Amino acid sequence: MRRANPGFPTGPAAVLVTTLVLAAAATAVSGLSWWSFGVVLGGQLITLAWLAVAMKATNRDSKNAPLPSRDQTQKRRRLMAQLHDVRDAAGALPDAVVLLDARGNVRWFNAAATRLLGLRERHPEGSLTRRLAGSELGAWLQTDMAEPATDMPAPADPSLRLSVTIMPFGAHLRLLLARDISTLTRLEQVRRDFVANVSHELRTPLTVIHGYLELLDPADVPELAPVLGEMRMQSQRMRQIVEDLLTLSRLETREALPDEEVAMVPLLETLRREAEALSRGRHHITVDASSQARLRGSTHHLHSAFSNLVSNAVRYTPSGGQIVIGWRQTVDGEAVFSVRDSGLGISAEHLVRLTERFYRVSSSRSRESGGTGLGLSIVKHVLNLHQGRLVIESEPGRGSTFSCMLDASRVLPPASDGIGRGESSPA
Ligand code: ADP
Repeated sequence: MRRANPGFPTGPAAVLVTTLVLAAAATAVSGLSWWSFGVVLGGQLITLAWLAVAMKATNRDSKNAPLPSRDQTQKRRRLMAQLHDVRDAAGALPDAVVLLDARGNVRWFNAAATRLLGLRERHPEGSLTRRLAGSELGAWLQTDMAEPATDMPAPADPSLRLSVTIMPFGAHLRLLLARDISTLTRLEQVRRDFVANVSHELRTPLTVIHGYLELLDPADVPELAPVLGEMRMQSQRMRQIVEDLLTLSRLETREALPDEEVAMVPLLETLRREAEALSRGRHHITVDASSQARLRGSTHHLHSAFSNLVSNAVRYTPSGGQIVIGWRQTVDGEAVFSVRDSGLGISAEHLVRLTERFYRVSSSRSRESGGTGLGLSIVKHVLNLHQGRLVIESEPGRGSTFSCMLDASRVLPPASDGIGRGESSPA
């Protein structure tokens, strides 16, 4: 059996593969996204097409002419040397590159594809899906590949993690690119463990300190009363930060949340009562529910995410402002939970970064209002685990609307017994 040549094919294929490899190398070295690969690829294709034409012309010339001139021989040698250089570059490329034909058969692959995907022999008739059968990547190739394969085990070595992309190439070809992201994944895990461990370790001492501070009566030491008040407030803030960090850590390690039937109408009422308690009569708070639908998701986590948005609306809206808690469905059947306020608003440059941990528009304002800077990050994680998204519209001085968009597949009809609508159930 002919062993695969992870080096290079010959003839016109060489030009094609050279192009791909150069582009992939440029992408890998420069750290650009795989989308940039297409742009680099275009440039490389033109250059190498020119090289191929030049070589063909040289060949034709040499066939017709009885003896090649010294000039032509040198030109040919130069072109061959360039192709050899590219072949060496292909060998050194750390990412797996596999060229597939219209039927998914492997046309060419590089050495990294052997190391990461386990491709060894070149069977023109063997489809990649069949060769990778039994692996997670093989299963992904059998889907419509709409979901990106951002983190999956390498078929040749499950201890390695891969990020895989497939892109159309030429008339009917496709290019599979697999990047080893094991180091990145490991670092990410170390970061997650560190935050979770630190938060966990801080929890007990903070509880003890807070407990003793609660025991001290300011009336017994009137001269220290303001200090005691401040200490209690700060220790409570620290406890809240630790709790939020632990919540985030737990959410990060979850791949899915329980699928329960969430009765939205009673939940909206609960959220309104919570907002009233926090506002203490300073705002005008209403519920605007044009839908009676329920949701499929985790009651606990959705409640926590929605109440974060409601609490923000109260904290960032000055006294006398309006807050509307909304529940509706779009024409596409998507469900939208929203919180609209007439508060401070947020300028456009902050909007994209708002869900980052500890990102605040104004640190002092957030601290004054008792914020931890982690609320919107929790909201985003909870929505991600429900395949939803957060849309933020805001204008400084006019207010903000935070909308949680949930796919139609998560929408359930109102409960037939009326419980989901907030009506009393029949006796
Ligand atoms: P925090 O605990 O600081 O409120 P969040 O993650 O909940 O943290 O929010 C991040 C930042 O977004 C806040 O510090 C605040 O500046 C801004 N923000 C959130 N909600 C609102 C809102 N309804 N109106 C104005 N600004 C808001």
